[in-house]
This record gives sequence, structure tokens and C-alpha cells, in this order.
Amino acid sequence: MGEASIVGAWQAVTGTANGYLSGTEPWKLVAYGAATMWTINVLQNSHRSDIGLFDDLKRRVFKLARLIPAVSKEIEKSRVKMYTDMMKEYKKPVEGEQYTPTLPKNGRPIADVVKACQFMNDMSRQKADWSKGGCSGTVYHGGEDITSLAKEVFGMFVWENPLHGDVFPGCVKMESEVIQMCANLMNGKTACGSMTSGGTESICMAVRTHREWARETKGIQYPNIVVGVSVHVAFDKACDYYRIKIKHCAVDPATGRVDVASMARLVDSNTIMVVGSAPSFPHGCIDDIEGIAQIARKHKIGMHVDCCLGGFIVPFMDQAGYPVKPFDFRVDGVTSMSMDTHKYGYTPKGTSVVLYRNTELRHYQYFVMDSWPGGIYATPTQAGSRPGALAATAWASMMHFGNDGYVECARKILQARETVQKIVVSVPGLKIVGSPDVTVLAIGSDVYDIYRMGNEMGHRGWFINQLQYPACFHICFTYLHVEQDVIDRLVNDIKEIANDLMQDPNKKLTEGTGVIYGMAQAVPDKSIVSELVWAYLDVQYETRPYIEGEEECAHVSEESADPNTPTETFVSAK
Ligand SMILES: *Cc1c(COP(=O)(O)O)cnc(C)c1O
Repeated sequence: MGEASIVGAWQAVTGTANGYLSGTEPWKLVAYGAATMWTINVLQNSHRSDIGLFDDLKRRVFKLARLIPAVSKEIEKSRVKMYTDMMKEYKKPVEGEQYTPTLPKNGRPIADVVKACQFMNDMSRQKADWSKGGCSGTVYHGGEDITSLAKEVFGMFVWENPLHGDVFPGCVKMESEVIQMCANLMNGKTACGSMTSGGTESICMAVRTHREWARETKGIQYPNIVVGVSVHVAFDKACDYYRIKIKHCAVDPATGRVDVASMARLVDSNTIMVVGSAPSFPHGCIDDIEGIAQIARKHKIGMHVDCCLGGFIVPFMDQAGYPVKPFDFRVDGVTSMSMDTHKYGYTPKGTSVVLYRNTELRHYQYFVMDSWPGGIYATPTQAGSRPGALAATAWASMMHFGNDGYVECARKILQARETVQKIVVSVPGLKIVGSPDVTVLAIGSDVYDIYRMGNEMGHRGWFINQLQYPACFHICFTYLHVEQDVIDRLVNDIKEIANDLMQDPNKKLTEGTGVIYGMAQAVPDKSIVSELVWAYLDVQYETRPYIEGEEECAHVSEESADPNTPTETFVSAK
């Protein structure tokens, strides 16, 4: 088409339009235009930018469906059942247990209080003796010497708070040294960071920091991040908290690693960061960090490497004889990382480190309020006050282990996983899910419902993690699994259970968490699933025990608001 004919066509169109509108008064034309703009604006703002138009509509439709009495009655029935089941499972009364829902009027002597604390501690020990290797993850070392080191250091710093750097330079120094040691472990020449309360807070900070960075430098108002479906749920939580859209890309079904091409397709002009895990929580595989970094470099966006779990294993793997490709700040494009001192750093729960490639990026994490009547206020992370005692125990653990100590522990734990893995692959009916690159081993089955094995493991005192999409369970190996007798017990139980299941592979599961997973996958309205899961959390907060036959206990919490309820001691009927 030549230039002249384009002009001709345009004149024909405008001519027709002018003719068509010539009878309309000009003020109406302006009014129609304005009304159209207003409608578009309302439509655009009436859905949540973070969850998207389609999912928002779905959410609303399901909400309407719940107005139907038959539907809401069914949901209520399920809720009560769930609550009761949870009470049975978690609030079984223990002989001699005391219930104290209200503050005692007169304080009790220290010896009494300590005795009561001892009772509670025994309750935990009776449920799960983690010291014998019964837990997947959960407690990452637990050696007597580490425990006494932590106790002694905690006692020294028990009142310290790094929020007050002027008062407590000691624990502030320890905090800063922990962060810098971590930055160096991750080969960040210009890297810096912050200490947080755990992996979740580290990830929340990294996500929010990139949001601020993208708004300031690129003007992005409706941000999104792109992650693999295998990424830790803390990213979903961060996006929920900070109103960011999260897009999940596929992982390679064979390796469990992020499908880089699928990730690249989801990146758009509003994407602020992409994420890789080293390793991922569910299947313990290290993503293709270089491949993901290429996406970040191409689009000039951030990239986080979640090394929460692997922070004190992966940096030592080369030295331990398990070579890994560069996964840290050596990879150009990686802008932030997270690593948990409270996992394989072997320090009590409550600390993690978030790292940034440079201090400019860290500035976007800071919060400053200059006009508060309480004074000019500035904090680096989500927390206000911070536990100085935990910064101190983290420092003490790192000093005690040193490079060689961490290498030694990593080698033993990796060997334990490898040993069990070699045996599991030879057990008929079982298969490994993904590629276990580090300390996690995920086990599934094509022959029977693997949740049945998970349940049976539970009955034998193994606290494993049930996983979904695909159904499997995993064991996260820790220093408590390195002894040969623990490995022997573990593989013998796996073999025995597998053998039993092979006798009747088609049997349906009728009890335990596996049933809940089955149900959750079948219900289309995910808000119902959430509400049923609330029951789990509510039950944890319940101060009363489950009394046999008390099916109505779902309502107990509302009725028991009496502040004068005295301390009761549970004595069994017999
Ligand atoms: C444990 C973990 C986290 C964070 O968990 P927290 O319980 O908040 O410490 C994040 N990512 C991975 C891969 C993890 O294993």
C-alpha cells in the first residue's frame, strides 16, 4: 500500500465517522468520552492487581456460591470435623498437665515455674525425640557441646538488643560480623546484608527491596516476580504481604529444577525479579542459577538466590568432595541471596541473613520515619527490637565450627543422604523425585499411594514432610542422621513399609494428613481449603484439652472467654 492510499483510507474513515456523529451535540461527545475513560479506570482498579482479573472473578463467584444454605452448611460441617480431628491429634491431655488461660494472681516461686517448664519440655520430648534422628530437618545439629555453647552465650546477652546500637555495641558487632562472614562465603566482593528473624523474613525483605528499587529506578507500579513452582512458599507470603503479583513457572518434571525457558516466557515489563533456589525445599535440587541469571541480565531486573536451606552446606560442598557449579555472587546477575544461620549454621532458631550485591540495593530495604514524635526512627528490616542474644549465638556457632567444621558436617550429612538414596532406588515400588543435589531426599511411588508410606513412617516415629504436586514425602537430612544406626533404622523401616504396601498397592488411604492433601487437591474453591487449614492454626492456640466425645469443641474457644477460669489440672478418669 502506498502512502497516498493510506492517507486516502484514513480520510474515508474519518469522513464516515464525522458524518455519523454530525447530528450529535459536541458536549455529548465530550461526556461520552469522559464516561468511557471513567469506566475503563473503574474496571482496571476494581480487581486486585496482585492476583489478576481471572482469579479475582473466580474468587467472587465462589464467595457467592457460599451464600447457598446447603453449601455453607456442608462447609461448616467439614470445619467442625476438621477442628475436632485436629484437637484429637494435637490436644490429647497429658496426665498431670495444668491449664492456665489467665494470669495467676500471685506470682509463683522460681523453682515452681522451672518445674512447670520442665513438664512442658518433657511433653515435647515424649512426642518426638529429635535427638535420635526422628525428624526431617527441624533440629539441625543438637550436639551437647553446641547446646551448652548456645546456652552460655544466650545467658550473657540475654537483655541485649541491636536496635540500640548506642547501648549494646557488643552484640551489634557480632551481628555485623556474622553478615560479613556470610557475604564472603557467598563470594560477594561488594556484598552486604542484614540479619533477620529467619528465612521468611530474609525473603520478604529481598522481595520488598526489589519492589522499592524497581519503583524508584524503573517506575514500575504494578510489580510481579517470576519463580518456579518449587520455590519456597515464603515468596508467596512476601507477595501477599507487599501486594506483588507472583507468577509460577514450571519445573522440569525429571530434575525438579526450574524450567528456564518457561520462566523466560513469564517475564514481562513489570517483572522486578526472578528467583532460583540452591537448593529448593521440596526436592532439594539446585536450580540452573546461570540460566536464570541470563534472564535477569537480559531484562536488567533483580535475581534472588534462595540459599536459606543450603546456606551453610552448598558453600562447603566443593571442599567436601561434592562439586557444585557457581550459585552465588560469582554469577553476574544475582542481586540478592538468603541463608539461614538457624538451619545448617547450627544456632538456635530465630536468625537468618539476607545479602545484597551492593549497599545501594540495601538502602531500598531501610525504613526511615523522620517526623515521628518518638524521634527520627530508622530500622534496616521488618523488626523493631531484635534479639541480641540470637545474634550472639549465631556468631558463636560460626566461630566454633569455622570453615573446616562446616565442611566436615556437610560431608557427613551428604554421605548419609547418598547412602539412603542408593538403597531407596533399589526398593521395588519407590522412586526418587527430582534430583537430590544437597541434603534433601524426596521419595514417591508410581505403584501405590505414597501418603500411606508417609503415614506409616509417622507411626514408627519418623516425622517426615508430606509434599504435593506430585505426591511424595521428603527427608531433610541433618547432623542427627549421620550415625550408622540411625541410617540403618531408617532404611529398614522404609524397606519394611514398602514391602507391606506392595502386598496391597491399590488400598485407599483413610487417615492422616495424606487424606487432607487428597481432599485439598479435589476442592476447586481454594478459600474453603484455607478455612479448613485455619482449624490447624486455631487448635495450636487452644489452651484446653480435647475431651473425648466433645464434638462441639469447635465452638469452645468462643464460649471459654471467661477471664476467671482458674488453673485446672488434668487427671484422667480411671
Ligand atoms: C527453610 C527455608 C526457607 C525459610 O524458612 P524459615 O522457616 O522462615 O526459616 C526458605 N527457603 C528454603 C529453601 C527453606 O528451606
